[in-house]
Amino acid sequence: MSVRVRFAPSPTGHVHIGNIRAAIFNWLFARHEGGEFLLRIEDTDRERSTQEAVQAVLDSMEWLGLDCDEEPMYQSTRREAHLAAAEMLLEKGLAYKEDKGNTGKGECVVFRMPGEDMSFHDEIKGDLHKNADDMQDLVIVRSNGSPVFHLANVVDDIEMGITHVIRGDDHIENTYRHVALFKALGAEPPKYAHLPMITNQQGKPYSKRDGDAFVGEFRDNGYHADALFNYLTLLGWSPGDDKEKMDRDEIVELFSFDRVKSSPAQMDIKKLTAMNGDYIAEMPLDDFIVRVREYIAQYDWATDVESDYFLKVCELMQTRTKTFTGVSSWKYFFSDVLEYNEKAVRKILKKDGVKEALECLKNGLTAIDFSLEGIEKALREVETEVGMQANKINQPVRVAITGISIGAGVYETIELLGKETVGERLSSTLEKLMSNNE
Ligand code: GLU
Repeated sequence: MSVRVRFAPSPTGHVHIGNIRAAIFNWLFARHEGGEFLLRIEDTDRERSTQEAVQAVLDSMEWLGLDCDEEPMYQSTRREAHLAAAEMLLEKGLAYKEDKGNTGKGECVVFRMPGEDMSFHDEIKGDLHKNADDMQDLVIVRSNGSPVFHLANVVDDIEMGITHVIRGDDHIENTYRHVALFKALGAEPPKYAHLPMITNQQGKPYSKRDGDAFVGEFRDNGYHADALFNYLTLLGWSPGDDKEKMDRDEIVELFSFDRVKSSPAQMDIKKLTAMNGDYIAEMPLDDFIVRVREYIAQYDWATDVESDYFLKVCELMQTRTKTFTGVSSWKYFFSDVLEYNEKAVRKILKKDGVKEALECLKNGLTAIDFSLEGIEKALREVETEVGMQANKINQPVRVAITGISIGAGVYETIELLGKETVGERLSSTLEKLMSNNE
């Protein structure tokens, strides 16, 4: 039987990385097996489900390249089928009606648990077992006539011909009930694979409080979709060696449940960001420029984004860019007015000999050959002249001409800014240092 899996989000808000990781693992398994990957929007909770949240699911999936093999199923359209299934269980005596708590509000439909111990095999967690005494009968239709999650979920999995249910391990307790429901409805239960929880550094469920947690935030905050995809596959799975950076085809080929671990997976934003930097560094320059233009458009100092100069800035900065939002620090390439990072000024510029060195560089500037070698040579000469140790001038020069302490190579930065700009910035920095000293 060919594999059919589904991602079944409840569209009640933003798409959490734990949810999209479940989608990714379903997708990977389907692609690895040559099976089908489907989407079911579990929108039966009319009060909490919103159209924006459905759109967020669709956008997140598209952004991450999780293509579906059929049109999405909307669970809210399936109410008749859910109620018919409840009716059938009542007829067979496998469910009963009850006015829970004698509220007088009407009767619910309650599924009778089989009264025997339940067990199922999980592809990740192994054999799982629960005693009959620990399970209670289950409401499947509320007194207001609306079907409950468990019923809708199982009836639709049967309808869709789902062969494997891959979801977060917070659903393990539900699964015992679902297995019983499948059997009562005359269907073979699917295979199950429950994914380990994603946690923060303290081992608690990873949440908004720990940092970016929703797919849309990662997109807005300058992450590359392929990097997030790759990183999320490593939250719970590994290909069996130390390999981490892998392209999609490679992951599809290597993916299997026996390499999904059952213990929680810790989210490490620093690691994701480093991986993101690697993905950005490897992008074709033209693609990188397109993305940079998207992010830089919000800054009024970002002008002439079609110019040759802009292209050169992108070329220089690409391997230094960890996230696309990092372009916020590129202001010094475009604006005449430098914004100084005061900490860098204090720690790097206000050191003995720096002022003299910057003055010496400014005075000799006209004579410098503006090639990379020429610039390097000039800096070494300045150091000798003012009695500074080798390579001690690079950081002060960087801060003097960019205002900040990070960026691309200092020779390349000087070359790209050009003699005139470098001269002006050295002058204004020197003025700043003089006035601060008084
Ligand atoms: N709507 C449920 C959820 O988002 C579905 C769980 C499942 O995959 O069966 O948790």
